[in-house]
Amino acid sequence: MERDFTLKIYEELLDTLINAGYSFQRVEDYMQDPLEKVVMLRHDVDLRSYAALRLAKFEASKGIQSTYYFRIVKQSYDPMIIHKIVTMGHEIGYHYEDLAVCAGDYQAAIQSFQKNLELFREFYPVKTICMHGSSGSPYDNRDLWKKYDMQDYGIICEPYLSIDYDKVLYLSDTGRRWNGFKMSLRDNVKTKYDFNFTRTWEIVDAVDKLPDQILFTAHPEQWVDDFPEWLYVKGFSILHSLYKVYYRNRKIKKEMNNSGKE
Ligand SMILES: [Zn+2]
Repeated sequence: MERDFTLKIYEELLDTLINAGYSFQRVEDYMQDPLEKVVMLRHDVDLRSYAALRLAKFEASKGIQSTYYFRIVKQSYDPMIIHKIVTMGHEIGYHYEDLAVCAGDYQAAIQSFQKNLELFREFYPVKTICMHGSSGSPYDNRDLWKKYDMQDYGIICEPYLSIDYDKVLYLSDTGRRWNGFKMSLRDNVKTKYDFNFTRTWEIVDAVDKLPDQILFTAHPEQWVDDFPEWLYVKGFSILHSLYKVYYRNRKIKKEMNNSGKE
């Protein structure tokens, strides 16, 4: 069976979308002036920021601009890499996790958020942010916006909160499958769509049936051609999924119930 989650199949996916008449917009551009038939490529840089640079170069070579959300942790936040990705015309946003890091202290979390946002704004005039799932924490980072208004911080979009997924189809590569987000603790959205894709080829084959607006979430570290790295990523992903499904999600749900959170 041909390997999935390589740059080769990623290119096939992009070419298929282009041939089907889709344009590409960065999240901030979509929010300000959405095209009719459009794909947004959202990249959450959870770890191994060099993989983000690799993917950013690849997209730029095809004339495509997308959106990269970086965390503040050292596995993700790399000024040199962020700077290079900015020069390619991609959008940079903050992949925030302040509420989880601050263990639910809202005031500390918003201060931390503001401070970190300023760091990213040294590289790019950040207008959109996207939560990190922090699936090891009982705190949902998005809850920060139940108490504070993101517009006060110059933010025009949080993809989980600001996009209508009855209109925009949401597809995420979480768990190295395109339907894993249905099982994910927080990386999921309310939607009327019921597509059920596992492998990337299934999306390619179904391109004529897809709605006009699509948001893909692709974690850069998952997309790799080099075989040893690909094998490592796949092995890690399998173990990590098992750990989450059989142990951590149950533990976190229990913690959330105990503290009266939903
Ligand atoms: Zn993340």
